[in-house]
Amino acid sequence: MAIIRRPTIIVVGAGIAGLTAGIRAEQNGFHAIVLESQPVVGGLCTGWYRKGRYLDGCIHWLTGSKKDTELFKMWQNVHAFKDENDIIDLDTFGTYEYDGVQVPFYADVDKAEKTWLEIAPEDKKEIKKFFKMVRDFMSVETPCNRPMNNLGLKTYLKVGISVLKVWPSYLLTMKIDTDKYALKFKNPAIRNAIKLCQPGPGNLFSMLYSYSTITSENGGIPKGGSKLFAENMKEYFLELGGTLKLSTEVKEIILEKKKAVGVITNKGEEIRGDYVVTTISPELVVNNLLDSKYQLNSFMKRFKKNNPVPTCCLLYYEVEDLPELDTQFTFQTKEFICGTQKFNHIGLRNYRYDPETYVKGNKTIVCVLIDQYDDDYFYWDNLYYSNKEGYYNVKEKLLKDVQDRIVDRFKELKGKITPLDISTPHTFKRYTNSSRGGFMSFLFTSKNSMYHAEKIRGVKNLYLAGQWVSSPGGVPFALMTGQHIIQKICRKESIKCISLNNFKIVKN
Ligand SMILES: Cc1cc2nc3c(=O)[nH]c(=O)nc-3n(C[C@H](O)[C@H](O)[C@H](O)COP(=O)(O)OP(=O)(O)OC[C@H]3O[C@@H](n4cnc5c(N)ncnc54)[C@H](O)[C@@H]3O)c2cc1C
Repeated sequence: MAIIRRPTIIVVGAGIAGLTAGIRAEQNGFHAIVLESQPVVGGLCTGWYRKGRYLDGCIHWLTGSKKDTELFKMWQNVHAFKDENDIIDLDTFGTYEYDGVQVPFYADVDKAEKTWLEIAPEDKKEIKKFFKMVRDFMSVETPCNRPMNNLGLKTYLKVGISVLKVWPSYLLTMKIDTDKYALKFKNPAIRNAIKLCQPGPGNLFSMLYSYSTITSENGGIPKGGSKLFAENMKEYFLELGGTLKLSTEVKEIILEKKKAVGVITNKGEEIRGDYVVTTISPELVVNNLLDSKYQLNSFMKRFKKNNPVPTCCLLYYEVEDLPELDTQFTFQTKEFICGTQKFNHIGLRNYRYDPETYVKGNKTIVCVLIDQYDDDYFYWDNLYYSNKEGYYNVKEKLLKDVQDRIVDRFKELKGKITPLDISTPHTFKRYTNSSRGGFMSFLFTSKNSMYHAEKIRGVKNLYLAGQWVSSPGGVPFALMTGQHIIQKICRKESIKCISLNNFKIVKN
């Protein structure tokens, strides 16, 4: 009997995009070899332990957590949840306090609208318009199972009709940045809430899209945290027969006659395959793995234009007797510095929603995420390399500054907060090699486009996936790009890509 050789797909990176590509490759009859530079999978979708406590480093909301959505089926297909009921839906997207007034972004959209109208009757017209847009966004489910340029006529028409109805909302929100939009409101508390709900120069579209996933019960959180979420995918990939090599950094992509035929790793190992799929920043693919022999000007231009890469500092504390608070509670503080920016607010995230994972007796894990951008990344990175001791001192000071301000707001917490850990944009870069320490890819602003080409011109059998080819990133985009790239390779190989529902593991 003739043995049929399965084409091999080498995947660079075992984040969500890499694991998805590996799983879909195996499901479709390829052999996948996933190579990951770190000793663990997950990439930016991660969590870690300090002083015996699990600290989550990623998912605040998971688009596609609602059963029966296309995205949910995709998450199920890659076995990201052990049990499909392991999703926690939150009551709000956050509450923003300003001069004693609290503005909640309830998941119940009618309740939120009513509360906002009570807070700011002077903004009735704008508030009505805002919640109309939220409802419009709730009514559209964008297709995810297939790439946008390969939807087929029937799906195109279906999506086209549903989008047409809400087109004015889409157009308006794409073209206006959130901080400018906030100025339409007279009430300072509402204005502050809209501005901080998505700080920085992101457009209103991203903010409304995120909020509408919560109001549609499609932005829940996986129980057990982000690390488990990625580990579930890893286990399934191995069960399918995929090969995973951890602590294996790809140093070079081998090209023969301008065709990718394998990679060379940090261990000097040469691994041969029929295709190479990268899930890291295209900047690193071109400059490091292809030794700058190819150009990717369109991608590199994105860094040059006013096109911020969002990153952050994450500060973790264990808090005794935390008062009843919304999961995300943002309040004003006296000024403090983080990176190159001055802040006068703190967003306190408490993880009480998943007590098994984050609560021990009367002690709860809380985290403060401070938004950082490109200049801040360079600040932290330069500090680390020029003055390591200074870097650690600045981190310690920041942990203390924020702790003091939490106590200023919640006097009853004096002596009840223990700092656990702090990460900076430099940390993300060091552990995931993400360009500029980005925790997502480019911010979706009123001036940039979402997609980037998945190919490097002139190189055959090399494909790009991951958050960097689909702004603004996030785990759903990582999932989608990982899946779509395998669909493209299937098409090239004239293989009918197996549908999500039909896949079964056949054990020999
Ligand atoms: C604090 C935080 C909060 C977030 N919150 C959310 C959220 O609520 N919802 C949401 O949807 N998204 C969220 N995200 C974003 C989300 O985590 C990312 O967009 C997504 O995980 C990116 O996945 P990826 O596979 O594209 O890339 P990555 O996760 O960056 O994976 C790339 C992998 O490649 C590896 N690698 C790099 N170079 C090499 C090499 N040369 N050889 C081998 N391996 C290499 C890296 O180590 C990494 O594991 C958050 C991220 C952070 C950090």
